Amino acid sequence: MCIRRLLHPSSLHWAWRTTVLKGTWRRQQGTHCWKRSGGSTYRAVIFDMGGVLIPSPGTVAAGWEVQNHIPSGTILKALTKDGENGPWMRFMRGEMTTEGFLEEFERLCSEIAKTSVPVDSFFSLLTSEQVAKQFPVMTQAISQIRAKGLQTAVLSNNFCLSNGKSFLPLDRKQFDVVVESCLEGVCKPDPGIYQLCLERLGLQPSESIFLDDLGSNLKAAASLGIHTIKQVEDPETAVKELESLLGFPLHVGVPNTHPVRKSMEIPKDALEKYLKDLLGTGATGPLELLQFDHGQSNPTYFIRLADHQLVLRKKPPGALLPSAHAIEREFSIIGTPFYLMEYCPGIIYKDPSLPGLEPSWRQAVYTAMNQVLCKIHSVDLQAVGLDNYGKQGDYFPRQVRTWTKQYRAAETSTIPAMERLIQWLPLHLPQQQRTTVVHGDFRLDNLLFHPEKAEVLAVLDWELSTLGDPFADVAYSCLAHYLPSSFPMLRGFRDQDVTKLGIPTAEEYFRMYCLNMGIPPIENWNFYMAFSFFRVAAILQGVYKRSLTGQASSAMAKESGKLTWFMSDLAWDFAVKEGFHVFKEMPATKPLIRSLHTRAGPQSFLNPTGVRSYSSAAEASYEAKGGLIISPEGLSPRVRELYDRLRHFMEQHVYPVEPELQRHQTSVERWSPSPLIEDLKDLQLRTWCCLQQAGLPYLATHCRKEDCSGPVLICHTEFLGEESPSATTGHVPGRFIATTVLVLILEKAKAEGLWNLFLPLETDPEKKYGAGLTNLEYAHLCEVMGMSLYASEVFNCSAPDTGNMELLVRYGTEEQKACWLVPLLEGKIRSCFAMTEPQVASSDASNIEASITEEGGSYVLNGHKWWISGILDPRCKLCVFMGKTDPQGPRHRQQSILLVPMDTPGIKVIRPLTVYGLDDAPGGHGEVRFEHVHVPKENIVLGPGHGFEIAQGRLGPGRIHHCMRLIGYSERALALMKTRVKSRVAFGKPLVEHGTILADIAQSRVDIDQARLLVLKAAHLMDVAGNKAAALEIAMIKMVAPSMAYRVIDRAIQAFGAAGLSSDYPLAHFFAWARALRFADGPDEVHQQTVAKIELKTPARLQESAAPRL
Ligand SMILES: Cc1cc2nc3c(=O)[nH]c(=O)nc-3n(C[C@H](O)[C@H](O)[C@H](O)COP(=O)(O)OP(=O)(O)OC[C@H]3O[C@@H](n4cnc5c(N)ncnc54)[C@H](O)[C@@H]3O)c2cc1C
Repeated sequence: MCIRRLLHPSSLHWAWRTTVLKGTWRRQQGTHCWKRSGGSTYRAVIFDMGGVLIPSPGTVAAGWEVQNHIPSGTILKALTKDGENGPWMRFMRGEMTTEGFLEEFERLCSEIAKTSVPVDSFFSLLTSEQVAKQFPVMTQAISQIRAKGLQTAVLSNNFCLSNGKSFLPLDRKQFDVVVESCLEGVCKPDPGIYQLCLERLGLQPSESIFLDDLGSNLKAAASLGIHTIKQVEDPETAVKELESLLGFPLHVGVPNTHPVRKSMEIPKDALEKYLKDLLGTGATGPLELLQFDHGQSNPTYFIRLADHQLVLRKKPPGALLPSAHAIEREFSIIGTPFYLMEYCPGIIYKDPSLPGLEPSWRQAVYTAMNQVLCKIHSVDLQAVGLDNYGKQGDYFPRQVRTWTKQYRAAETSTIPAMERLIQWLPLHLPQQQRTTVVHGDFRLDNLLFHPEKAEVLAVLDWELSTLGDPFADVAYSCLAHYLPSSFPMLRGFRDQDVTKLGIPTAEEYFRMYCLNMGIPPIENWNFYMAFSFFRVAAILQGVYKRSLTGQASSAMAKESGKLTWFMSDLAWDFAVKEGFHVFKEMPATKPLIRSLHTRAGPQSFLNPTGVRSYSSAAEASYEAKGGLIISPEGLSPRVRELYDRLRHFMEQHVYPVEPELQRHQTSVERWSPSPLIEDLKDLQLRTWCCLQQAGLPYLATHCRKEDCSGPVLICHTEFLGEESPSATTGHVPGRFIATTVLVLILEKAKAEGLWNLFLPLETDPEKKYGAGLTNLEYAHLCEVMGMSLYASEVFNCSAPDTGNMELLVRYGTEEQKACWLVPLLEGKIRSCFAMTEPQVASSDASNIEASITEEGGSYVLNGHKWWISGILDPRCKLCVFMGKTDPQGPRHRQQSILLVPMDTPGIKVIRPLTVYGLDDAPGGHGEVRFEHVHVPKENIVLGPGHGFEIAQGRLGPGRIHHCMRLIGYSERALALMKTRVKSRVAFGKPLVEHGTILADIAQSRVDIDQARLLVLKAAHLMDVAGNKAAALEIAMIKMVAPSMAYRVIDRAIQAFGAAGLSSDYPLAHFFAWARALRFADGPDEVHQQTVAKIELKTPARLQESAAPRL
């Protein structure tokens, strides 16, 4: 037999021993009393409430004070102030209303703390369901006491709530007698209240045991002759003491078990016989068999035989999926393979948010978890003979293959996110740094904790263990951080404030791990998270498939089908983030991995056969070729067609109206949007709608109809105009329909649909919001838009809206998307991004000082910003605001981003700023003050502390869009210059025949083509390797493009003569923008710094020995 002791510290045997009790005890049948031989008899146990059955006010106060920065001990001092005449005791005796008490108590606390103390918040916490919960060990003890025929009572100093009801968050049915001070008008330690309780119990003092956490209350009870137990630290210890006084066990059976489910029964007789043979003569008596609540895939049983306590783990019955239940490795004896372990009693924290524990305890639990993982990963494989436990190296490639295979074997329908992940993961495999034992299912509820210390006693569930990349375990242990608390199978806490709970954030957990292991911080942990969620999704799909054949051991199994979708979406979110985050400062610890061979595997962009396919989008599926497309001719037919249509549209509609737009921009009405632009946008929007209707991507949002959970198509009927008077919004629950009128006008509109082209396929793989172009494809189109300063807005592709829309797509909640993204995508509103501040060097975003503080249910913003593009536009309804929520936090976790409606009181635009005298109306660039601007808490994006990360991600794609447009500005300038120099004559010959002009034209062509190649390379790298891997190229092009454009435009202006500086031509305006873009989205020097840093970390291309010697 294989009995495996997983962890065996001596402390393991702390366990309560039902057989080893002090003294000899016997049950006096019929009299319902328990008597120690030669001693007294007990007939009742009386419990205090706060501090015995539920957490004490003092304990709750201690945690609350830390969280709220209130001097420690303030509440406790106020509770005891003035003894029985103090507000607390008067409140307990029901002499004060809640409001009266809170008022007086707040005054008292504030006096003690010498600062304002929000007592209301403490009181809400104290009385909240989350905190005022009976300790399970006490519930078990009470039921055992009553089962033995003894009475139970609760004797509580409690109070009345504002609804008039007394505060007693207990099931009253557990007690024969309930005595509440606030109803009796008398409090402990007044002897009267004990006597009242005894009277109601009908007992003498010596017949009862009283548990309380306060010495004075116990003293009073003892002086009456009642036996007392002081509950000092935790309820477990008090229950043990009570157990020894009463003489019978108070723990109910084995925690976390239930009777064996019918479908999971095992042949008990055969097992009993086998165990008796195995364990020898001592193993007599009936075999007790229970099933653990744990163990979805391999059912797990508790066995008690005589004084042996064992755990048996076996395969589920029925036909199994390939290698999901590798128990054969262990042992097979009773028909079904199984293995046995010694039972190790301890606590399993099933809820990873650790309710009822103090923040410091939670922190300690997660630290212990992290440490034990480091221990597992530090095992010397050779020394313990585990070097053949699994294959060495290539862990992730194998895992991705294995779980893809498992998923395929269990697949019941096509899940788009899974399809994308199956494509994406092999292309983003990290290089494996270390090979260690990998647990494979390392999460909090697979750890057995010491009940009194934050110490891991055993690690459970090793069936997925092997040798591999340890980061897989680290990421897997952070799943709960991203799952909601309502998630049925793997509970999480993403909807709770981890900092308040005391739980390290996922990033902190990763850092803690790296620190404990003495290794540099992990850079690409989004990959590991994406893989972890992918794997769970594959596992859940397996559970679901088995539930269909009746094999899964959990009643929840059938639910798991839906959960697979949820998990795979989460996984894809991380995949998207991995590609999205572009950090301007590369950490010094790790050189950027730019080995495209490694990252992209055999399908790298260097390999012409490499194909990235987002095949989930049914008929709209499009395969982006792996090759770098350097000219529009290489674009796929669909994109080429878009490109041609865009050029055509520019020629037909945009260039001809430029003079009029230019006039408008310098006229007195310039602060109102030009009607012309609005007309052009309408035209685009109409065609876009029609394209969507035609089976091209839909803009979808969740249906707002109460009776429908499906998505609803948003048709922009108000934009359809006279031609389609009967057009209505199509609505069928759960799917899209197209209205007849729209379909009829489709063919006409198909030739135009040029709207929201900017959203990269990577961000919007379902093409829910945009046209589904890759960055590379968009680069070609964006260059065309750059030929006119007005064009990008016409196609709803202008900054800062594009960055803000991308931010909302990636990080926004469904509500935020519905509120802001939809109108932005529709072009109905505009937005701005407020980061830069006059008083600090904002090139370094960590310098910003604007504050975001919490006040009641809202955030309050205060700050001074400038250069906020677009804020003056009357259509600007949203300000994406960056400020600091935690100025003391780690440098890049201090900032948060909030969505601020522009009509919120307190936003004061001081003045428009100008660029070389141009004010860029109607959007402008505003200097603004935010004074006590109140914003609802739900307007935060991604939660507190994520501002820096989001801002960096937001600017990454935005930067390259500017560069794409700058190529367009330059091409236009060169085109204008060529025309001009051919038509003007100076000194007897056309300008074009002068050598300097020729040189300028040649130089401009070279400059533009060089820069374009770099733009395209950066865009392509973003597509094939992710934004992060393209950080160097993005920084390089942002460094190169503005000054290149500025030089090319300057040459064109020079060739134009003075006219070049006038507003008769777009050159001066182009020039001003190119110059401004040497600052906007970060000045050149910051990008130079990034390039240099990365270059210095990149291994030399030249062998040192081959370098010339000086
Ligand atoms: C037209 C325009 C539109 C803009 N729109 C917006 C907007 O919508 N929202 C917004 O928040 N901001 C906007 N900005 C502001 C822009 O992002 C900032 O101007 C830019 O980040 C620089 O910050 P700063 O002006 O505070 O310069 P500083 O941080 O004060 O820097 C000044 C100079 O210091 C030098 N410097 C800085 N860092 C380094 C370094 N690491 N190495 C060497 N030298 C260095 C550079 O020469 C730099 O130009 C806009 C700016 C312009 C010109």
